[in-house]
Amino acid sequence: MIIGVPKEIKNNENRVGLTPAGVAELRKHGHTLLVQSTAGEGSGFTDEEYQTAGATLLPTIADVYEQAEMIIKVKEPIAEEYPLIKENQLLFTYFHFASGEELTHAMIERKAVCLAYETVELSNRALPLLIPMSEVAGRMAPQEGAKYLEKPLKGRGILLGGVPGVKPANVLVLGGGVVGTQAAKVAAGLGAQVTIMDISLNRLRELDDFMPKNVVTQYSNEYNIREAIKTSDLIVGAVLIPGAKAPHLITRDMLKSMRPGTVVVDVAVDQGGCIETCHPTTHENPTFIIDDVVHYCVANMPGAVPYTSTLALTNATLPYAVKLANLGWQEACRRDEALRLGLNVVHGEVVYKGVADAWGLPL
Ligand code: NAD
Repeated sequence: MIIGVPKEIKNNENRVGLTPAGVAELRKHGHTLLVQSTAGEGSGFTDEEYQTAGATLLPTIADVYEQAEMIIKVKEPIAEEYPLIKENQLLFTYFHFASGEELTHAMIERKAVCLAYETVELSNRALPLLIPMSEVAGRMAPQEGAKYLEKPLKGRGILLGGVPGVKPANVLVLGGGVVGTQAAKVAAGLGAQVTIMDISLNRLRELDDFMPKNVVTQYSNEYNIREAIKTSDLIVGAVLIPGAKAPHLITRDMLKSMRPGTVVVDVAVDQGGCIETCHPTTHENPTFIIDDVVHYCVANMPGAVPYTSTLALTNATLPYAVKLANLGWQEACRRDEALRLGLNVVHGEVVYKGVADAWGLPL
């Protein structure tokens, strides 16, 4: 199969859909790899590395779309890319159609085959192509929190791990899923005193089994949250209710009970946030302050670490890309139910219920 890797042109997107290692793997299976020149630059991969791995470099994004049967990328195509997409072309990338009406209509019109990373789903309901980005954001959360707890950045001026003779900071993690687990591990590793709250007792049992001694678990309810935030230095928002907006576990009135300079890192901001006062921010301007509480609410945290994020994402996507290239999308989706669930728009028809429901389109 002829596989194309365009450079991402969405604002501030430095990841790339395939690494030189991925190129080498697909070449081994006999496929042709067309990579747009400088596509890997933002993630630290040079054109020479792609060439050495066996890719042919093409000068423009139009060349890549023109010649490729399958496009592997990271973000959904943006308006400039719509006219480049060909009928029957397989697009393997994040789409998030349920929050993009214009994109949905554009892909219907282009009659492409859109296989969305975010809806590839295993039989245990895990989302294998979203997990890596949650892992990155989770591990980043205490790192960002620690930074904004510094006094010059308007934080309380407390060191997460403390020092001998001085108590460490208190970190509260709301939600003990992928993001919360990674956040708790890193915060604990830095020496903080960590509390993880979740509404799943089974999840709390699992966490209790493998977390270090400086992580305790507590059932998540309003009473416990109200108590805990009074003495928390850093709060990480990491809840998810699949398919729904995040619940506001910390409401505006609760901020007044928090100490000045407390930092909240609301990773769940992409689902509306679990702190009522959160709104999405960017890496250029990541924080704002309400009632002396520093809010960090960057909606694409992994974008700040494109090297790690690209490797983490492509580790997860490559086995699926190999399957799609070797078998073609129809046979690959027939054999692999997880991959089939990734199909969202096929030849002008919406085939994913959540997308049809979102925009009142027939399934
Ligand atoms: P997950 O499904 O693995 O975990 C969510 C956890 O929240 C579950 O354990 C669930 O039981 C728990 N939960 C639900 N309601 C709760 C409540 N009321 N109190 C406490 N816990 C509750 O999800 P995840 O992969 O960890 O993702 C968490 C959020 O982070 C999602 O909104 C995701 O989209 C977001 N995310 C954001 C970024 C970013 O850059 N900002 C990156 C990756 C993920």
